[in-house]
Amino acid sequence: MDYHEILNCLSPCGIRCDSCFAFKDGKIKELSRELSDELGNFQNYAGRFATVLNEPVFNVYPYFKLQLDLFAQCDCKGCRNERCKLLKSCNVRECSEKKGVEFCFQCDEFPCDHSGLDENLQRRWVSSNLKMRDIGVDSYYHEIKNTHRYP
Ligand code: SF4
Ligand code: SF4
Repeated sequence: MDYHEILNCLSPCGIRCDSCFAFKDGKIKELSRELSDELGNFQNYAGRFATVLNEPVFNVYPYFKLQLDLFAQCDCKGCRNERCKLLKSCNVRECSEKKGVEFCFQCDEFPCDHSGLDENLQRRWVSSNLKMRDIGVDSYYHEIKNTHRYP
């Protein structure tokens, strides 16, 4: 994976867009589509399985399908291409563009007090950027690329 591709996956705050459920080219979307296709019209059979198997969980299949369909239809182009659809208060994308930096650790104000991130994300933002500063963006991405977005 070259640097340009890494930038597409990694937002300026250091969080991975490619593992976000909302990312249009993400694994969660891809696998949800596959599962949705494979299940076909399972909703027409779920009630029967609830009775035959005495498993009431099949009765809530319509809720599962709603969630699966939502995952399958997500279309966020990632933080470098459009405003984050999940973190409405985040200022990092716009601010990093104004500052002319690809990542916050490259900014002379880092760590500033106007990222707009909540406490939890603020901690991740600082530690991710310190790590990128220490080992470089490429090594950082390769180190985290197999980790879960929702650990
Ligand atoms: S910009 Fe926000 S919503 Fe879009 S993929 Fe990245 S983290 Fe997810
Ligand atoms: S001012 Fe803060 S949010 Fe903006 S680029 Fe610098 S460190 Fe990031």
